[in-house]
Amino acid sequence: MKEVLLLKCGEIVLKGLNRKTFEDRLLKNLSRRMKHVADCGISMRQSVVYVEVPEETDADAVMDCARHVFGFATISRAAVCPEKTLESVIETAQSYLAPRFAQAGTFKVETKRGDKKLPMTSTEISQRVGGELADRFPAVKPDMHCPDLTVHVEMREKYAFVHAGPEPGAGGMPIGSNGRAALLLSGGIDSPVAGWMMAKRGLELVGIHFFSYPYTSERAKEKVLELGRKLTVWCGRMSVMVVPFTRIQEEIREKCHEELFTLIMRRFMMRIAERVAVEYGCGALITGESLGQVASQTMPAMAVTGAVCGLPVFRPCIGMDKEEIVTIARKIDTFETSILPYEDCCTVFTPKHPNTKPKMPKILEAESRLEVDALVEEAVAGVEIIHLP
Ligand code: ATP
Ligand code: MG
Repeated sequence: MKEVLLLKCGEIVLKGLNRKTFEDRLLKNLSRRMKHVADCGISMRQSVVYVEVPEETDADAVMDCARHVFGFATISRAAVCPEKTLESVIETAQSYLAPRFAQAGTFKVETKRGDKKLPMTSTEISQRVGGELADRFPAVKPDMHCPDLTVHVEMREKYAFVHAGPEPGAGGMPIGSNGRAALLLSGGIDSPVAGWMMAKRGLELVGIHFFSYPYTSERAKEKVLELGRKLTVWCGRMSVMVVPFTRIQEEIREKCHEELFTLIMRRFMMRIAERVAVEYGCGALITGESLGQVASQTMPAMAVTGAVCGLPVFRPCIGMDKEEIVTIARKIDTFETSILPYEDCCTVFTPKHPNTKPKMPKILEAESRLEVDALVEEAVAGVEIIHLP
């Protein structure tokens, strides 16, 4: 039986004159991602995108791909009726939804009539189809209020479709429709979640990872790249810039007071990230910071680290509890990788008594002992670019 996915656009339907730009972007993103799964025909009519599943193709894989594309509110996997007639709709519903009927105690039919030229109203179609199906599945009783199974009939312009109801899509806005931003990606739980949340808002991501070889191992870097790969399932292609960070950390450790180590290090991260971000056309930085989670994420600490950066810094996890962040990490399948026990550059150098209420003059005094600009230049010059997947 011929199958099709009906994808209903989400928030972009609220757009005005520029709606077409968003729709084009959405179609382009979907096509590019589908290309890796199957050769599907993709078209759009009235804010619904149709993905035709070719015969002999794994429809589950096509469905799974669609679930990971931002910009769609719902996805329905439907059968295409061979003809646009009531008989054909009934036959298709009977065979396509037989497994669903086998599991249901009650059912009803709901009809959408996109083609207004049809002689019957939606209610009439639902009654006729429902009556027939009740005869063919006598064990399943009609129930108009709270049925186990709702048979959806969609009479569209060219075809009639039958399905058992939509499931939620990935939501959000098409990747790239809001521009590009640089995600500071560590090996932890929070930063992949932060990246996913902002990608969902239509940002294309460029990853930046600060790597402290040999304090952190190749395996730790590989773990970060694996997190990047997990994000590409949602975002499509992504490049990760690996910044050599060891020299800077050693310099700070040697020349600055221990309690300021993390803050000064984070200021370097922001400076370097901004440089790389601008070079790659990014309009903002994204971090996984959450208020009060650790010493460097107090309000005064974030004021000090944010001060070196002119770009907006997006911190989507800022108001979230760890548990809420973990829930998303599980949903997006980064959690298991994030908790692998490889050391992180921050943990290697973490001071015993970090300063949670830093004063700017003290920071500036400490930084005056470092060749800040030269260290930033050196790190930027040593960036290794890795393309994922
Ligand atoms: P995560 O926040 O990802 O779980 P974490 O809790 O170890 O890791 P922190 O050390 O608290 O993170 O750092 C806060 C944020 O700074 C991270 O969410 C990430 O955006 C950024 N960050 C930290 N370490 C690195 C790194 N080595 N490379 C890139 N970004 C980093
Ligand atoms: Mg964190």
